[in-house]
Amino acid sequence: MPHRSSVPMTWRLKHSRYTLSGTACACGKLHMPPRVICDCGNDKLETKVFSGNGEIVSFTEIHIGPAGFDRNTPYNVALIKLEEGPVVSGIVIGVPEIGKKVKGIFRRLHTDGEEGLISYGFKFEVV
Ligand SMILES: [Zn+2]
Repeated sequence: MPHRSSVPMTWRLKHSRYTLSGTACACGKLHMPPRVICDCGNDKLETKVFSGNGEIVSFTEIHIGPAGFDRNTPYNVALIKLEEGPVVSGIVIGVPEIGKKVKGIFRRLHTDGEEGLISYGFKFEVV
């Protein structure tokens, strides 16, 4: 199957997380995270870098975070409809409300332990 890979998901999506990029199909459909084949069957997708600007469509406050995020609690995670169309999830900085505008900002996401690997990616700041 063309969309399967032996490379772990974290590494497959690293470029996408660092650049907020997905894919665009000739049929007009945009994908975030990126895909290797569109719903229409086209497997010649192009990279699409998203602006990071969007609107909160749903959110929740996390009080018990997973490993790596547990020191940052409480924090807010939202579903954000990007101005280009796709909906992504992300940590929100600021006070989230449904309908509020956000912009993507590149930040540290979490650290694996005291001296562990630092992961970076996009968070969304209320504007
Ligand atoms: Zn398509």
